Formats: sequence, structure tokens, C-alpha cells
Amino acid sequence: MNVNLELTDHCNIRCKMCSQSMRDDAHGGPKRFMSFDTWRRSLQGLRGMGDVALCPHWLGEPTLHPRFDAFVEYAFAANAGNALFRTFKVHTNAVILSPERAARLVRLARTPGLAPDTFTAIHFSIDAFSPEAYAEVKGSDKHALVYRNIERFLAIRSALGAERPVAHLAIVVQDENRHEVSDFVRHWGAVLDAVAPKGGRRWNLTADWPPFDADAIYLRRLNSGDQARSDALHASACHEVGILSPSIRPPGSF
Ligand code: SF4
Repeated sequence: MNVNLELTDHCNIRCKMCSQSMRDDAHGGPKRFMSFDTWRRSLQGLRGMGDVALCPHWLGEPTLHPRFDAFVEYAFAANAGNALFRTFKVHTNAVILSPERAARLVRLARTPGLAPDTFTAIHFSIDAFSPEAYAEVKGSDKHALVYRNIERFLAIRSALGAERPVAHLAIVVQDENRHEVSDFVRHWGAVLDAVAPKGGRRWNLTADWPPFDADAIYLRRLNSGDQARSDALHASACHEVGILSPSIRPPGSF
């Protein structure tokens, strides 16, 4: 069971493909931050619900919550024996990712008393290779900061001798970044090669939601009003880097 507990629907950037950016009331009301009491009671309410995959995100940027670290610390401390959730995944744009937070997330992935694959992944929404495309797609000048933060997270995880949480490095393929998809794959492939565990599993290159067994570069399809065109654009980018888009993949061939 996938459970999304949205810490906030605020975001610090404005991606052109995101409903959060398009409206100030994407949920039909003002944007807010979750209270700690709601977080605590929601988590406790998961007890006995079975195989829960928890993600503290829906719209918005979860790390923007002023108490993000305390919320996540609490979730792992309260989950002894995986009584509340079986897996945990963070989605972030990586604008706010200090070295301390990076180390904390790696430490939480090794919380004693939990299944070792509890903290499965951090999904990094990057969406561009160049600062110019980043500005167009993300409505932000944070390209250099984001690249530095993610590369530093990977270096910290490697220095701590850890493989989890795995990193999913995503680019939503669209007109503004289609021309630099190969550069994106080349760049992040080199970064992931440099931190790949010796004798461990190599990273994946995927056209659909990546598995949690290793880091991944994820070419993601854009949801749009002209889905056939977006699918064709995605398929052409996938073809260029040597993978098959789900939109043209025969059923059952995954
Ligand atoms: S970073 Fe995520 S939540 Fe923020 S605008 Fe982009 S897609 Fe939406």
C-alpha cells in the first residue's frame, strides 16, 4: 500500500510541468505545513495496516518543511520492527540538502531494528543538464546548487560506506531539455560510476520507475495535454541513450 503524507504543498521553485506551480490552491485551499501532531497521529495510524510504502510527499517540496529533519527522525524512531511502514522514500528537488542532512539521511537508512532496505530511495527531480534549460524547466537559478548538493550527498554516502538510500536521478523529458538528455545521462553516469561500490551492483538507466536495488538515472515521461507527442519525445530520448520507452514497449516485455 502506497501512503503519501504530504509535509507541505509549498515549493521553493516553480517547475513548468507541476500543478503545484500553476495554482496557489492546488488542493483547493491555501498552502500549508503539516503539524507535528498530525504527522505523529498519521504515522501511528499506519500500525497494523500491513506492507506500507511511505512517502512524505505529494505536491510540494518536503524538505522545505521547517521541521523536516525532526519529522523524519521521529518516523524512523517510531518504526521499530517496521511496525508502521515497510519502506520509506523521499522526493526532493535537492535545493535544500546540507551535508548534515545528507549524513542524517544515510544514518537513518541504517537504523537498528529495521529491515536494511527500509529507506529505499531518494528521488531527485533534476530535469535539466544546463543552467539555461534548468531555468526554463524549473523556473529557478538553482542549477549549480542542486548539482553540488546531489553530488555531495553521493560522496557522503560513499564515504560512510553505505549504499542506501539509493539515488534516483530524474529528468522529465520535454521540449526544453530534450536536446541535452544524452549530456544528462553522461554526466550523472560518470558521477555514479565514481561512487559505485566495488564489486557491487552498477546503476540502472530506466525509462520507467526505477527499482530500488541500485542508483538509477530515470528518463521520465511528461504528463501533458498532448500525451501522444510527449510520449514520442520521451521515446526518442530513450532511443538515443539505448533504452526502450514504456509507451512503445510491447505489453508484458518489462
Ligand atoms: S520541485 Fe517538485 S513540487 Fe516543486 S515545482 Fe518542481 S515538481 Fe513541483
